[in-house]
Amino acid sequence: MLSYRKPAPGPGLELTDTPAPGDPGPDEVLVSVQAVGICGSDLHVLEWDGGYEFMVPHLPVTLGHEFAGIVARTGEGVSHVSAGDRVTVWPSSPCGVCQACRDGVAQNCSDKRTLGLYTDGAFAPQVLCRANGAFPLPADLDFEIGALTEPLCVGHRAVAVGGVGQGDRVLVLGPGTIGQAIAIFARDAGAAAVAVAGYDDRARLQACADLGFTTTYDLAQEGDRAAMERDFSGADVIFEATGRAVSVTDGLSLLRTEGVLVMTGIHSRNVTFAPTDFVRRKLQIRGSHGSRKSDWEAVIAKLRADGPSLRPMITHRLGLHDIASGFDLARQRVASKVMVFPQDTGPEQEADR
Ligand SMILES: [Zn+2]
Ligand SMILES: [Zn+2]
Repeated sequence: MLSYRKPAPGPGLELTDTPAPGDPGPDEVLVSVQAVGICGSDLHVLEWDGGYEFMVPHLPVTLGHEFAGIVARTGEGVSHVSAGDRVTVWPSSPCGVCQACRDGVAQNCSDKRTLGLYTDGAFAPQVLCRANGAFPLPADLDFEIGALTEPLCVGHRAVAVGGVGQGDRVLVLGPGTIGQAIAIFARDAGAAAVAVAGYDDRARLQACADLGFTTTYDLAQEGDRAAMERDFSGADVIFEATGRAVSVTDGLSLLRTEGVLVMTGIHSRNVTFAPTDFVRRKLQIRGSHGSRKSDWEAVIAKLRADGPSLRPMITHRLGLHDIASGFDLARQRVASKVMVFPQDTGPEQEADR
C-alpha cells in the first residue's frame, strides 16, 4: 500500500509502497483511514530540525497521527468497537501495564508508542492501532472533522493546564491548528476576550477569523504589535503555540502579576528570560503536551454538538498521492490544516488494481 514515511535520519520523507499491516493482534484494531491531517510535528520530522531524535531507532516509520476512519477488523478481546464502526484514534493511548498506568497517571505512560512517530501511522490506507485508542465518532460527523479530534484534544488539555476561567483575558501566540484549538476551548471555558497573534501568517490568521476570533494580530504588520501590547498587557493567561523563543519573552512581558504562560510548542532552541522580573511578578510557566482520555471524551462531545462549526480549520484537501504538495503548502504557511484522504491513492494506483 502507498505510505508516506520517514525512511532514515535527516531531512526528507518519501512516498513509497509498503506491505499492508497484518491482522490485528489481541487488543488491536485495523482501521481503514478516511481522513488524516498534516501536523506541525510532521513538518519538524520532515525538516529534521531537532526534537525528534527519539524516532531514530524506529525508522523507517509511516507518519500521520491525526485521523479518522472505519474499523476494518478487530483483534481478540476487543469489544467496544467492531468492524464497520466510524472511529477516531488517540495515537498515544496508554499501555495499561507500566508503572504510571498502574499508578493511575496513564497520561505519563512510559510505553505510549505514538502512532506515526514510533510505529506506522495513518499516511497510508490502513493503520494498526491499540484498541483502547479507538473512540467511536458521532454517526453524522464526517471524517475530516473527526480527524481534527487529536489536535483539538491537545488544545483542550492546554486550556485545562492554563486554568482558563470565566472572564479571563487570553492571548494565544501562534495561529496554527493548536493555537486555534486553544482559542476555541478558551472561549468555551468562558474567557471574556480571546485573541490570536501570528507573524506573517495571513492564511492561518484568516482561519482564526473564520472561526469567529475577530481580534487577530499579524506581528509582521506595522502597528499590530503595538495594538497587541495595548489590548493584552495584563492578560490572565497566555499560550505559546509557536515553538519560537521570542513568544516566551513576549508572553511573559504581557502577563499580569501572577499570570500564567502555557507553553505547547516544540522548540529547537533554548529560551532565555529575565528571572528577577519573573520572580517579582510571581509569574508561572506551565508545559502542556498531549492529552488525556478525559480530553478525548470532552472533545468528541463538542464535535457531536457543533463539529461542523470547526470546518474553517481545514483549508486544503488532497489525495495521498499528492501529500508532498500538502506538506509544501503547510510549510509555506499558505494553508492552515491540510487534510489528506488516503483512500485516494491516485490514478496510477487505481489502474493497478
Ligand atoms: Zn499532531
Ligand atoms: Zn503505560
